[in-house]
Amino acid sequence: MPELFIGGNWTAAVDGQVREIRCPADGTLVASVDEAGPEDVAAAIAAARDAFDRGPWPGTPAAERGALLLRVGDLLERDKDALARAESLDTGKRLVESEYDMADIAQCFRYFGSLVAAGGGDRIVDTGLPDVDSRVVHEPVGVCSLITPWNYPLLQTAWKVAPALGAGNTFVLKPSELTPHTAVLLMRLLAEAGLPDGAANLVLGAGGTVGAPLTEDPRVDLVSFTGGLVTGRRIMAAAAPTVKKVALELGGKNPNIVFADASFDAAVDYALTAVFLHSGQVCSAGARLLVQDELHDAFVAELVKQAEAIALGGPFDENARAGPLISAAHRDKIEAYVEAGLAEGAVLRCGGSRPDDPALADGFYYLPTVLDDCTPDMSVVRDESFGPVLTVETFRDEDEAVALANDTVYGLAGAVWTADPGRAHRVASRLRAGTVWINDFHPYVPQAEWGGMKQSGFGRELGPAGLAEYQEAKHVWRNLAPSPQRWFA
Ligand code: NAD
Repeated sequence: MPELFIGGNWTAAVDGQVREIRCPADGTLVASVDEAGPEDVAAAIAAARDAFDRGPWPGTPAAERGALLLRVGDLLERDKDALARAESLDTGKRLVESEYDMADIAQCFRYFGSLVAAGGGDRIVDTGLPDVDSRVVHEPVGVCSLITPWNYPLLQTAWKVAPALGAGNTFVLKPSELTPHTAVLLMRLLAEAGLPDGAANLVLGAGGTVGAPLTEDPRVDLVSFTGGLVTGRRIMAAAAPTVKKVALELGGKNPNIVFADASFDAAVDYALTAVFLHSGQVCSAGARLLVQDELHDAFVAELVKQAEAIALGGPFDENARAGPLISAAHRDKIEAYVEAGLAEGAVLRCGGSRPDDPALADGFYYLPTVLDDCTPDMSVVRDESFGPVLTVETFRDEDEAVALANDTVYGLAGAVWTADPGRAHRVASRLRAGTVWINDFHPYVPQAEWGGMKQSGFGRELGPAGLAEYQEAKHVWRNLAPSPQRWFA
């Protein structure tokens, strides 16, 4: 069955191009998928435009749109095993991690389904005037281009598709060219749930050829992008001539601040998951450990001991605790990044190379790496690695911890570990980041907004603001007793 979904039809690329998808854990061929060209992208945009302008989706009552999202939640749960397997084959991530993701994705659809069915934010305005009926209603923005990365393919897609559809928009989705399969499966579920033809469209392929036209075409009203900072800058510029609405979820270089009074065992354990979960390929990874100076030696010693024990392996290896990187090119980048850090004076405490296990030789594995004695000017402290690399810096007091934590162009997430609730909340309020965890790392819920400050982007996903991204607020004012005003009399 072909994999492009345009105007309710499954279709191959007009020019017959396909792309091989290989599992990063061992290089085996997962499948060949259709690779869209310019004609396919134009057709998908036309289908989404037509479906928006002619309906019926944008005019479908909110309660029905919400009900459809709830049905999609049920279908996702029904198919969770097949979806998790497909996700793990594309990304190489552990099956159990994909299974967690699928449960979260069903919840995301259910959350937005309930939110939309509850009214989507419309309200009556109290003007204080007796003869006026003033209301703010929320309408869809129009045709949305949804562009997503490879690290959490279906999760990042769900965060966009659910609110976009819930608000009554139509869309063209372009997942990462490396991880297309769960997007294909989602389109099938949307059709099965009864979404009208043309409301959801899917094109597969590279960023430059398939993604770029989605950010430039005048028929597109909104671009929601999750990915790297450099691509985000390009997308913002491409969207400017037609003044599209833009939402950017970009990278992070997230601080994990540990004070000496923190619960030692928990802080060490979470510092590991903060940075090594999914081999560090997490936008909110706690890649900068800031540890209070008197705790440094004991903390780093225990952290390194546990990092060295992390077993690497493929998605279906039940002993593995971390998987491969997404591609050979990405591993090359991580290797160069660590080399640069060492050249700048960082001290290697563990990792810093590929594993020597021959069973892993065909995958893109890299050992969990800890770089100690880091300073704020080092490239490994400033730039996102998006790999299993932790930098360690020390601080004396609260002010220095906050200053170091905020000394970054990014502002996605951060954490503070301390037994002192007053200090925890003071530090949390001073961190310039969209999410702050206290004595925790990584949790999120669909009810709470997610997004970045500074160059981590703008706009929010999840929560009521995640729906508002896809809505236009319209003020409708009705004069209940019109009579001549005689302004010019
Ligand atoms: P990327 O920027 O290379 O690609 C992301 C998507 O954009 C892909 O689908 C790609 O094909 C497409 N793309 C590339 N060039 C394009 C162009 N010129 N026009 C339109 N589309 C284009 O990012 P990636 O390597 O897939 O993902 C890793 C990055 O994503 C990291 O920086 C990570 O921090 C970030 N990320 C952020 C969040 C968040 O919530 N803030 C979540 C996940 C990932």
